Amino acid sequence: MRLLLLSDIHANLEAMEACLAAAPAHDLVVNLGDVVGYNASPNEVCERVRAMGGTIVRGNHDRACSGLTDLSEFNLVAAMSARWTQATLLPEHLAWLRELPPGPLLRNELPGIEFVHGSPRDEDEYVLNPSTAGANFRVPGHADRIFFGHTHLQSGFALENGHVRTFTPIYAAGKGVVEFSMPLARGERYLMNPGSVGQPRDGDWRAAFALYERDGDAAGVMTFYRVPYDVEETQQRIIAANLPERLATRLKLGR
Ligand code: ZN
Repeated sequence: MRLLLLSDIHANLEAMEACLAAAPAHDLVVNLGDVVGYNASPNEVCERVRAMGGTIVRGNHDRACSGLTDLSEFNLVAAMSARWTQATLLPEHLAWLRELPPGPLLRNELPGIEFVHGSPRDEDEYVLNPSTAGANFRVPGHADRIFFGHTHLQSGFALENGHVRTFTPIYAAGKGVVEFSMPLARGERYLMNPGSVGQPRDGDWRAAFALYERDGDAAGVMTFYRVPYDVEETQQRIIAANLPERLATRLKLGR
């Protein structure tokens, strides 16, 4: 079973298309939320994500941009983009976003695997450090392989003999698509983030995604990817839409 893991696309059409073009063969697409918000192609991205199907968890921006939650928790720039997105989205996409399920999501054919936007215990929680990861590992009843998004950081946490270890992919230099494979260990538990397709914040502007591959009940292999894309085109769309310029500049910085 090969899972294509996408998260935090954030209405970035160019980044999403580059990731899909680079994606290896897979059996299921899993989208960990924040399909829209920040960038300027919400209708195009919703259309493509809906056509792909698979498992889709809702993100906080999916809620905010479809009017399910108010914008009081958002900073000014995020709130401006959420209002623009809500005004720009076609009614059918707004209705679809409102129906997206909150995590954790499970699938019968994938025992021991769980999908969330923020964390297993709270869809809005940022899992940024070993202590938050450890607290989530201690919540009873959750899976051994938990895939999450929300932080826009391509990374993960492993629980081994009660200790939480952080890991991040290490890439060789390269102009094209780069990848980093990490075999998982039996008996360890993992919280893993494929990174953000549409607005990475780990200092690397390239679009991020991952593939998780598992044969039978083996531990499986996680492969992280970074994909260059036409970021100038995405920036131009943001400026043309009169969205805050900061949303364009941050893309090239990976912040
Ligand atoms: Zn996000």
